[in-house]
Amino acid sequence: MLTRVCSRLRIICKLPESQKKHCVYKKGCHRALIYPTMLLDFCSKCAPHCWKCGSEIQNSTLFCSQCTTLQKPNEKNYFDILGIEQSFEVKDKELKTKYHKLQNVLHPDRFNAKNVEERDISERYSALVNKAYSTLLHPLARGLYMLQLHGVNLDEETRQSDPQFLAEIMQANEELAEAQHPEDVKELDNANRSTVEKLIRDAARAFSTGDIDAAKKVLVKMKYYSSIGTRIKDMKQKIGIE
Ligand SMILES: [Zn+2]
Repeated sequence: MLTRVCSRLRIICKLPESQKKHCVYKKGCHRALIYPTMLLDFCSKCAPHCWKCGSEIQNSTLFCSQCTTLQKPNEKNYFDILGIEQSFEVKDKELKTKYHKLQNVLHPDRFNAKNVEERDISERYSALVNKAYSTLLHPLARGLYMLQLHGVNLDEETRQSDPQFLAEIMQANEELAEAQHPEDVKELDNANRSTVEKLIRDAARAFSTGDIDAAKKVLVKMKYYSSIGTRIKDMKQKIGIE
């Protein structure tokens, strides 16, 4: 994985000039390079500084090491906010652990004695962590978000024109409308779940190979099947199963 790394680490980048990227913190800084490593640091010129005391913040920690003040959330992507690798194949356990740790650190009780500004930052940070977590936890939301990171907004391109797929969806909806017995609903539920699971595997493959076009197609299908899943869930509640 290529991560942006600053020349402050004194890593000699062998990539051609055209592939070098600017510092993640300040556009126009030419001291940041791309280097195949997971290390992340910032050049001293552009490193973030504590909003309160002005000290340099090392290694994107949440708190200033000098004055212990909570730092403002950086508008980074949700993966960075939670500190996990950007991949569709998120490990639920790791995601939950990181989330609970952050929410513990950002808990309002810890900021009762702090000033209004820091309390306000902790609330904003906490809301951002919640949003990041709920987005990355669910495969459909995670996939749609990853497409957004690639500049694709699926809300604007949900039109499905594949006639075979549309026929499949129509049939699934008809079967659901005609389901009379709890057993029928359960059967449709199982079938829908395994379809969604297969699509999740397809999406993982597409994202891992960087095939955004394929990921887009899979995610459109996932949206349709997820909405059928929601209908099935409502129906199960209505007829009192599970
Ligand atoms: Zn400080």
